[in-house]
Amino acid sequence: MATTDIKFAKKLKKYGAIDFNACFNCGNCTAVCSLSNEKDSFPRDMIRCTVTGQSNDIKGSLKPWLCYYCGECTTHCPMEAKPGELMMSLRRYLTGEYDWTGIAGWLYRNLTAYMVLFLAVALAILGYYQLNADQQLWLEGGHLFEMLAIAAVFLLILLPNLFRMWYFVIGSKKDKIPFKKYVTTLKSLFVHMFTQKRSLDCEEDSANRFWWLEHLILVFSYLLLLFTTVFLDWFASSNIILIAAGYLFSLLIFIITADLIVKRWQKKSEKNTYSHPSDWFFVVWLFLMGFSAFVVRVLIDFDVLKHVFGFYLLHLIILAQWALVIVPFGKWTHFLYRSFAMYFHEVKS
Ligand code: SF4
Ligand code: SF4
Repeated sequence: MATTDIKFAKKLKKYGAIDFNACFNCGNCTAVCSLSNEKDSFPRDMIRCTVTGQSNDIKGSLKPWLCYYCGECTTHCPMEAKPGELMMSLRRYLTGEYDWTGIAGWLYRNLTAYMVLFLAVALAILGYYQLNADQQLWLEGGHLFEMLAIAAVFLLILLPNLFRMWYFVIGSKKDKIPFKKYVTTLKSLFVHMFTQKRSLDCEEDSANRFWWLEHLILVFSYLLLLFTTVFLDWFASSNIILIAAGYLFSLLIFIITADLIVKRWQKKSEKNTYSHPSDWFFVVWLFLMGFSAFVVRVLIDFDVLKHVFGFYLLHLIILAQWALVIVPFGKWTHFLYRSFAMYFHEVKS
């Protein structure tokens, strides 16, 4: 039986939704959305579900993930009800619902909590450094931390959350899907994860294609830098090809994220007009990670890191805040959930 959460619309405002109460249900937004179709019609029905408090329907829906936030619907809404921003807020809300710890939702609703967690991570690292300042130990420990953090975050947070997502959108419903279907559709998971090709279906101009290209390069640079530093131990390597590759990947990351930060700041396109703090944390920390990793490797190559070891600690703090806060609970998870949403969507269809 459908239940109504009368406080849902109010709750969603804490996730960044604005002005959606102005909607008078004309349907313009759905008509102009290139990704909406007869079978998956949105964003109007998502606004209706929000206004009428159908939170369970939203929790079991993949539609918020089918939107790529091109902003066309917002541009064409006669009531300025910002349907594109509502879809973005629903993705934040869903991220909070999938997370079994409840931390993701808490952080989305509370900027102070974000700051406290960031500060706690920084103080823990600086405090531990006061106890043991052996530089070699810190260099080896930093590498070990990366491996342990990735394994722990994936196994303890992301994997259970993906299972919860599956349960909300498929498991809790009556339709039975044969296991074979999950296997035969698996390819689509990786295609969407690495290419985000559906965003190219958005009816947009060259700016959208450039956005897609930037994100494609960013995803590959990020994953390759992760592989280079975590599995090939970039900071300790003397292999010239590996060193050059690490430089290239970190350079690409901080150049592209610098561009994304400037665009978000300038607010020239609809998708950059409204930024939640979590959007800022994502691009700024990714920039800082790429930049600080690049500089640390330069300091190693010029053999001066030992004289400015504080910079390595700064890099480690940024890395730990990224790995322990933004990856498991922040906007990074959208990358994962959207890919699985596409996969589950194809499995269901
Ligand atoms: S959000 Fe705007 S365009 Fe969409 S149905 Fe409501 S009033 Fe119409
Ligand atoms: S932001 Fe773009 S993709 Fe998302 S609902 Fe609006 S028109 Fe569709």
